[in-house]
Amino acid sequence: VCPTAALTEVNHVPKVWETLNNPKKYVVVQTAPAIRVALGELFGMEAGTIVTGKLAAALRRLGFDQVFDTDYGADVTIIEEAKELMNRLENNGRLPMLTSCCPAWVSFIEHQFPDLVDVPSTCKSPHIMLGTLTKTYFAEKNNIDPADIVMVSIMPCIAKKAEAARTELAIDDHDNVDIVITTREFGAMLKEAGIDFDKLPDEDFDNPLGESTGASIIFGTTGGVIEAAVRTVHDWMTGEDLEDVEFTALRGIEGLREATVDINGQEIRIGIANGLGNARQLLEEVRSGESKYHAIEIMACPGGCIGGGGQPYHYGNDEVVKKRQQAIYEEDRRKTVRKSHHNKEVMKMYEDYMGEPYGEKAHHLLHTSYSPKERI
Ligand code: SF4
Repeated sequence: VCPTAALTEVNHVPKVWETLNNPKKYVVVQTAPAIRVALGELFGMEAGTIVTGKLAAALRRLGFDQVFDTDYGADVTIIEEAKELMNRLENNGRLPMLTSCCPAWVSFIEHQFPDLVDVPSTCKSPHIMLGTLTKTYFAEKNNIDPADIVMVSIMPCIAKKAEAARTELAIDDHDNVDIVITTREFGAMLKEAGIDFDKLPDEDFDNPLGESTGASIIFGTTGGVIEAAVRTVHDWMTGEDLEDVEFTALRGIEGLREATVDINGQEIRIGIANGLGNARQLLEEVRSGESKYHAIEIMACPGGCIGGGGQPYHYGNDEVVKKRQQAIYEEDRRKTVRKSHHNKEVMKMYEDYMGEPYGEKAHHLLHTSYSPKERI
């Protein structure tokens, strides 16, 4: 991962073209939440311009068979992660629980803190969950052979390329995500195809795996994953339907933050780190037994995925990252449904196919494990 662009990624765009030109393949695409607030910069728009509708339209023009949204996978991640946190809280489980959707940070803990690999949530990351659900639930529902499906993820992140190749994440010996390209690679692909991006109409993602909530959108910025989880944990632990969903104490851009959330009289203490130096500080506390938190969110990139290594370069300009972050919160506010457990298509998937959240089938398909890796 390289938010400062000191390293360059392998270009996977030719592989995407080759797949799109193969009539035997059913090519599905998904895009992460952080992309919709940054892609416009590659086409001369202001940082923080929201281009969600044009993004979906552009993907359809390129010829993908289905245009899905990683945000659906993020809603599923929250449902699993919220259940996992409640399970650990209620059953004296390993605390703090650490979020696990950033592969650079997962790799960091495996290499640098191998004694703590039982601490992160076992949830796979949102794009891997969506890849899994596309090749199982969606394939079964539509009588498509999963072997014919190619899942392409457009990510703000270079580390997601390595994550997609992790054998621990495969189901029945096949990868859930086949090709990962970054926001910059995607921008280059649109230019190569001659697509006039700013003239595109706004379109929607395809259903059912394109349906999402405001909670999933805020995954794109630091503090967003844990805020989305708190929205669901709050409702499930209190039995109430919280109206004011904005936990502003969890927001900000500073590298290390903390907040306490009161749920049913129980104080849930939360730590947030972005940047691996800050993560190290919180992990040293966990290692020494001094951590006071119940849950910790860690993102490797400054600002979270909005400042990811695959995004349009911002050359360390915090103002660009702040504008992208404001756009993420604006997109959340625009949504009528803002809690993951209120995503109707996700809940239908649990009812028709997955069974109980955090149940046996969910463990098989949506969870993983980590192992100590040799220090490099
Ligand atoms: Fe990738 Fe950075 Fe987001 Fe982590 S924080 S998932 S490394 S873009």
